[in-house]
Amino acid sequence: MDNKHELATLGVRAGQLRSDFQEHSEGLFLTSSFVFDSAAQAAARFSGAEEGYVYSRFTNPTVSMFQARLAALEGAEACMATASGMSAILATAMAFLKSGDHVVCSSGVFGATVQLFGTILARFGVATTFVSAVDAAQWEAAVMPNTRMFFLETPSNPLTEISDIEALARIGRRANALLVVDNCFCTPVLQRPLELGADLVIHSATKYLDGQGRVLGGAVCGPKALVVDGVLPFLRTAGPSLSPFNAWVILKGMETLELRMLKQSEQALDLARWLEGHPSVAKVHYPGLASHPQHSLAMRQQRSGGAIVSFELKGGRDAAWKLIDATRLISITANLGDVKTTITHPATTTHGRISAEARAAAGITDGLVRVAVGLEALGDLRADLERGI
Ligand SMILES: *Cc1c(COP(=O)(O)O)cnc(C)c1O
Repeated sequence: MDNKHELATLGVRAGQLRSDFQEHSEGLFLTSSFVFDSAAQAAARFSGAEEGYVYSRFTNPTVSMFQARLAALEGAEACMATASGMSAILATAMAFLKSGDHVVCSSGVFGATVQLFGTILARFGVATTFVSAVDAAQWEAAVMPNTRMFFLETPSNPLTEISDIEALARIGRRANALLVVDNCFCTPVLQRPLELGADLVIHSATKYLDGQGRVLGGAVCGPKALVVDGVLPFLRTAGPSLSPFNAWVILKGMETLELRMLKQSEQALDLARWLEGHPSVAKVHYPGLASHPQHSLAMRQQRSGGAIVSFELKGGRDAAWKLIDATRLISITANLGDVKTTITHPATTTHGRISAEARAAAGITDGLVRVAVGLEALGDLRADLERGI
């Protein structure tokens, strides 16, 4: 299986290992350890002199297949799987940062990521400056002599702000800082950050890679020198490993990744256009709309606008809650990346614990609603929203 195949082919075929049983579907290897032919082989495996499986905290064939498939899709030399998206971010921070280092991070990242950098890593002497996702000048101005990492997520959640990966990669390179991009919203089907100059790509496989809301998982992708020499030693020792069962579920999910991403994005664009013309809607945030402030950048950087649409209702919180409560089909849950469409009110859920001022500064208004568009028929989704709008 070479990586010159197209994305759809890689999603179905890349990374498959076949055992002596010649199984057609990917095997699920539920085993914590592997046996050796001899004491000498055990010694060689442990020292790394001989390649092969040892212990599932750091080597398992099902997890290897997941890693190889995602690496192929991202165009990465290497990939290490982790127990969740957050453990992928933690592993990256632990691998490349030490006390006294400084991080520049987009303020539009996932809430737990803000907590991780702003609170937990701060206790270990790593300082983080949060800057605008869309203003490269702020990134440049935030650089200090000890800056070692730039961290961003594009499109951002829930406002779908687009960061210019190429521009920030140039600034990061001059500063000698690694550019780490959380590619959860787009997946490699819509955006390949390594080709745009990012050093590492993070995934929450919990979202679109699984695509069916079943298991948690995560990954770090990039060059061998960073992933194998940098991230693997931390994972091997600290142990936030992806379970083989979860790897297998996600691996099977990735077979339909391209189909799902293209269809869900297409439905999101249709829904965004409809919402934009609706009299009760004040504003729609969707990168695929010409009205989006970074529309042309998004269309350069991404294959489509993605499957997340946020919009502001004129009636504020009451109107937002009324719309959410009137749905009968769409699930009221903060998760995303599922084939089942979900709806959430960011101001009182994901962003409910931050101060009203900080929320206003971040643009999370009381009338804002986020929809993660799934695979149900578009007419049914529109009817479900129409009921309470
Ligand atoms: C969900 C999410 C994460 C965290 O992933 P988990 O698998 O829940 O740990 C990180 N980044 C983004 C953009 C996410 O949406």
